[in-house]
Amino acid sequence: MATVYKAPLRDMEFVYYELLGGEKLAELPGYEEADPDTVKAIWEEAGKIAEEVMFPLNRTGDEEGCHFENGVVRTPKGFKEAYDLYCESGFTGLTADPEYGGMGMPHSVGLMIAEMMSATNHSFSMYPGLTHGAYNAINAHGSEEQKNTYLPKFVEGTWSGTMCLTEPQCGTDLGLIRTKADPKEDGSYNINGTKIFISAGEHDLTDNIVHLVLARMPDAPPGIKGISLFLVPKFLIKEDDSLGPRNGVSCGAIEHKMGINANSTCVINFDDAEGYLIGKKHKGMEAMFVMMNSARVGTGMQGLAACEQSYQGAVEYARERVQMRSLTGAKHPEMKADPIIVHPDVRRMLLTIRAYSEGCRAMSSWIAQELDQHEKNPDPVRKQEADDLASLLTPVIKAFQTDVGFESANLGVQVYGGHGFIREHGMEQYVRDARIAQLYEGTNGIQALDLVGRKMGMHMGRYLRRFFHPVQEFIEAEMEVPEMNEFVMPLAKAFSRLQQASAWIAQEGMKNPDQAGAASVDYLRMFGLVTLAYMWARMAKIALAKQDGDEAKFYQAKIKTARFYMQKLLPQTGSLFSTIMTGSETLMDFDEEFF
Ligand SMILES: Cc1cc2nc3c(=O)[nH]c(=O)nc-3n(C[C@H](O)[C@H](O)[C@H](O)COP(=O)(O)OP(=O)(O)OC[C@H]3O[C@@H](n4cnc5c(N)ncnc54)[C@H](O)[C@@H]3O)c2cc1C
Repeated sequence: MATVYKAPLRDMEFVYYELLGGEKLAELPGYEEADPDTVKAIWEEAGKIAEEVMFPLNRTGDEEGCHFENGVVRTPKGFKEAYDLYCESGFTGLTADPEYGGMGMPHSVGLMIAEMMSATNHSFSMYPGLTHGAYNAINAHGSEEQKNTYLPKFVEGTWSGTMCLTEPQCGTDLGLIRTKADPKEDGSYNINGTKIFISAGEHDLTDNIVHLVLARMPDAPPGIKGISLFLVPKFLIKEDDSLGPRNGVSCGAIEHKMGINANSTCVINFDDAEGYLIGKKHKGMEAMFVMMNSARVGTGMQGLAACEQSYQGAVEYARERVQMRSLTGAKHPEMKADPIIVHPDVRRMLLTIRAYSEGCRAMSSWIAQELDQHEKNPDPVRKQEADDLASLLTPVIKAFQTDVGFESANLGVQVYGGHGFIREHGMEQYVRDARIAQLYEGTNGIQALDLVGRKMGMHMGRYLRRFFHPVQEFIEAEMEVPEMNEFVMPLAKAFSRLQQASAWIAQEGMKNPDQAGAASVDYLRMFGLVTLAYMWARMAKIALAKQDGDEAKFYQAKIKTARFYMQKLLPQTGSLFSTIMTGSETLMDFDEEFF
C-alpha cells in the first residue's frame, strides 16, 4: 500500500480563523479581497492540485530525479505540465502585488498552500518557492525599472528565480564570499565566480532564470560588510523586455543527493556574466536579511509538511495492518489479529506526529499573520509589535518545525515496521526529503545562535517581552477556569522554566559566550515546545466551548490531542532545562586533540 494525502483544509480553517481571527486581515488596506470565502475557495483549489497532480508525481520524481547533459537540466516527467498548471491556476502570483499582475493575497494565505505543496511534493514546491524569494528581494530592494521588468514575469511564472549565496569555501560564513563584481562603464557589473548548491539553478520549466547573486566589488571592505547583491539573468533582456543573447552563466553540474531528488541542486558558474546591482553597494546582506523572516518561515512550513504527510501515511497503515492482539484483550475478535492502531506504542507515535503537526500549523500561522500585520497595518505601534514577535519566533519556527518534521517522518517509517524501509510505500522518501530543511536556509544550529545571540537581547529584551507578556496574561486569566487547569498548569510550569533559562543564558552568556552557545540548541527546542503549549492551551479553550456541537468529534480530538501534548511531549522541557543549566564546561574542557 502506498501513502495517501488529503489536504487538511478543516484544520487550516480552524487555526487560521477560529484560533487566530484571520478574518481581521481583510480589514487591512491592500488585503480587502482576502475575505474568508475567497480564501477558502483558493485553499480548496490548491488542495485539489496538491492531491491530484503534485502527490502522484512525488515518488516518480524521486525515482527519476533530474538529469544533467551538456549544461542542460531536465526535470522528471510530468513536472513541466504540473508547473504550467500551477502557473495557470494563479499560484505563482497569489501573494504578489496587483501592480505586477498578482492577486495581493496575504502571505499567511500563501503559506498554507506552501504547506500543501510541500507535503505532496517537496521537490516541486521549491521551484516556485525560490522564485517567490527572488520576487520578494527585487520587490523590496530593486529599482522601479528592475521591478517592472522582472516581477510580472515571476508572477506569470514564465521566468523563475534563484538565491546564489553558497560557495565551496563558505556556507554559514558569507563573509568568505569570493565571487567578484567589477563595475563596467554602462553601470552594469562583470560577475565572475562559482556558486554551489543552488536550488533550481538550472531546469526546463521556464524561459529564463534570474539569479540573485551575492558578490564582492573591488573596493569592498573585507568580510560580511563588503557584500553586494546582484541580479544576473540566464538570458539578457532586450529593450522591449524580450529575451536576448545568453549571459555568461552556466550550470557546471548537479548534485546527487540524499533527498529532494526532483529538485535540481546546481553548481552555477559566472564567467564575465552581466549583472545589475540590487539596492545599495556593500549592503547585500541587509537586503538578504529583510527577506529572511518570510523565507525561514517558509522552510519551517516544509517541516510542518513533513509532519502532516507522515501522519496521514502512518494512520492509514496503522488502521489496516493487523499484528498481534491488544494487551488488554482482542479489540477485533472477528479478525485473526488486531490492527496495530490498538497498541500503546503505535498510538504514542501517531499522537506525537499529530500533536506536532497541528501545533506547528498553529504556531507558524500565528507568525505568518503577524508578518502580514507588519506589512500592511497602518498603525506603527501594531506594525512594530508584529515585527518584534515575528523576528523572535522566526528561528524557532525554522529550526523547531524542521526538527520535529524530520523526527515525525522517522516515526512514520517506524509505524510501517520493515515496510517503512521499502521504497514503494513512500515513507522512506519523506525522511530523506525532510532532512534538508534542517540544513539549508541557515542550519538549525545557526538558528539557535540567532535566537540566543541576537534575538534574545534585542532592544534590552523587548522581543522576548512581546512573547512573554501575552503568555503570562493568558496563564493568569485561565488559571481560575477549572476545566482549563489541566492545560494551563503544565504550560505555566514549562513557561517558568523558559523564563529561568532565558535569564540564566542572558547572564552567563555575557560573562562567557560559550555558555550561550552550548545552551542554544536546547533553548530553542524548549522555546518551540513552550510556544506549542501556548497554542495547544488556546486551541483547547476554543474546543472546550464547542465539543457538543455539530462537529463534536473534531473538537473532542483537539482536546484529547492537547491533553496528550501537555502530558507526553511538553515534559521534555524538564530535561532540556537540566542540560542547559549544566553549562558549557563538559564541551569546552575536552581538548581538541582528544577528539
Ligand atoms: C540541497 C541543498 C540545497 C541548497 N540550496 C541553496 C540555495 O538555493 N542557495 C544557496 O545559496 N545555498 C543553498 N544551499 C546551501 C546551504 O544553505 C548551506 O549548505 C548551509 O547554509 C550550510 O552551509 P555549509 O554547508 O557550508 O556548512 P558549514 O557552514 O560549513 O557548517 C558546517 C557545520 O558547522 C556548524 N557551524 C558553522 N558555523 C558555526 C558557528 N559559528 N557556531 C556553531 N556551529 C557552526 C553548522 O551548523 C554545521 O553543522 C543548499 C544546500 C543543499 C544541501
